[in-house]
Amino acid sequence: MDDLLNIKLEYKVIDYFCTFDYLLSYAGIEFPSETSMCFCPFHENVNTKAAKLFKEEHNDHIYCFAEAKQYRPHHLLTTGIVPFTIQHVFSAIWSNLSDYEKSIFSEDLKYHTVNVDFSKYYDQYKKCKLSYNDLLSSLINS
Ligand SMILES: [Zn+2]
Repeated sequence: MDDLLNIKLEYKVIDYFCTFDYLLSYAGIEFPSETSMCFCPFHENVNTKAAKLFKEEHNDHIYCFAEAKQYRPHHLLTTGIVPFTIQHVFSAIWSNLSDYEKSIFSEDLKYHTVNVDFSKYYDQYKKCKLSYNDLLSSLINS
């Protein structure tokens, strides 16, 4: 598996098994465990609740109206809000999965999730607006 697939697999597994309130409890932040308006953990938000938490099984996500952005649980790790590395959380989960479960995640990823539209990035790359590293990171973030 190449690096890009690896990273997508890690995010996907973390988002499938972790919830916001579970991860945030490690940062000492109390967070709702049901669908409701909430303070956005991703920006300075203390007066009016700016975000909505959507509790869907294996699909926890937050929409922040102030930022017009959607977040998944793995963003708590990539932004450093919860002080664990992606690799740490991922391997803790992964080591508890059966080979069958592992194969579902890996196959699903190979055939469904990595249908990124490369063309818009590749165009900019050709016009020298993006370096090779920029190209890679925009693909990872897409
Ligand atoms: Zn926000």
